Amino acid sequence: MKKIQMVDLKGQYSQIKDVVNPAIQEVIETTSFINGPKVHEFQKNLEEYLNVKHVIPCANGTDALQIAMMGLGLKPGDEVITADFTFAATVEVIALLNLTPVLVDVNPDDFNINIDAIKKAITPKTKAIVPVHLFGQCADMEAIMDIAKAYNLFVIEDNAQAIGATYTYKDGTKAKAGTIAHVGSTSFFPSKNLGCYGDGGAIFTNDDDLAHTIRGIVNHGMYERYHHDVVGVNSRLDSIQAAVLDAKLPHLDDYCDRRREAANKYDAAFNNIDNIVTPFRTGSDDNHVFHQYTLKVKGVDRDALVKHLNAHDIPCGVYYPIPLHKQKAYADARYNETDFKVTNQLVKDVISLPMHTELDDEQIEYITSTLINFING
Ligand SMILES: *Cc1c(COP(=O)(O)O)cnc(C)c1O
Repeated sequence: MKKIQMVDLKGQYSQIKDVVNPAIQEVIETTSFINGPKVHEFQKNLEEYLNVKHVIPCANGTDALQIAMMGLGLKPGDEVITADFTFAATVEVIALLNLTPVLVDVNPDDFNINIDAIKKAITPKTKAIVPVHLFGQCADMEAIMDIAKAYNLFVIEDNAQAIGATYTYKDGTKAKAGTIAHVGSTSFFPSKNLGCYGDGGAIFTNDDDLAHTIRGIVNHGMYERYHHDVVGVNSRLDSIQAAVLDAKLPHLDDYCDRRREAANKYDAAFNNIDNIVTPFRTGSDDNHVFHQYTLKVKGVDRDALVKHLNAHDIPCGVYYPIPLHKQKAYADARYNETDFKVTNQLVKDVISLPMHTELDDEQIEYITSTLINFING
């Protein structure tokens, strides 16, 4: 059996090497390292794939979130509601811009931001909501956009984990994750579903004015060379990363399918095991792209299970072990523990299994049987 990895970047690379290597070589030969034609080509191809008017590439997914918030003109003291159960980058940029993060609880089943908790957290100072499509599954965007409309709020989709997912509205129309809100952001960190070979990110919007503002912000606030109209940042996707991403983009749907197939096999193996809750799926199949395959274990010593799997050469992860409202940097006296019942429980119950495009049946069988053996004692 091939050694099991949490994410198998090498296996994936070996299948696209013949396309990726010359694409990287071409950038080196042309020496257009920054903002070269490759960046533009990738931008156009991603706009087409996502069916969105504007993709603005940038240096990473954290910058993408920050720049989206800067582009919307959010001001110090504005309250921004986001999920308590996510990667810290989401809340980090809110705090960094001197906005006020308002963390709220998530759903116990799909782990995404809870709609009632959003409503409860709204005050006259609330300016934006940042849903995160956690582990690759779309949050309840239709409900979130309805709240935003009612209260005149901006919505910023943190789509770092769900690129390629497709959200279905109640009337059956579909839109790609990240393109539903006023603005969306993503990350091309190597282990993300569309990963480059370094850092990368992008911002998405259908709003022409916002796109224009953001294009200036990513480039030192310049709209005309050496004229700095607003305070910006230096956040660029480099041409080598764009070349890698452009070579991988045509495979993205296939990559999503392979992740879903692996998830289906895991689901089937755990189907009859009482102590394991397999990932809850909302909406249609394409709503979830399984950035992570995350189980909840009940009546099982989760940390002992992690050790057991590791001892059997099976990597696994606990995403996330501490709710953000309990992190030193983001703790705040105004938070009430009773408002975080779900995240406080999830951090004890969740475990994420290896998930990538190269998992084979033998590996999945070994992972599931090792896990089930532990549970059955
Ligand atoms: C990875 C990630 C980010 C940050 O992306 P980077 O490219 O690493 O800066 C932001 N939000 C979420 C939910 C993520 O998973």
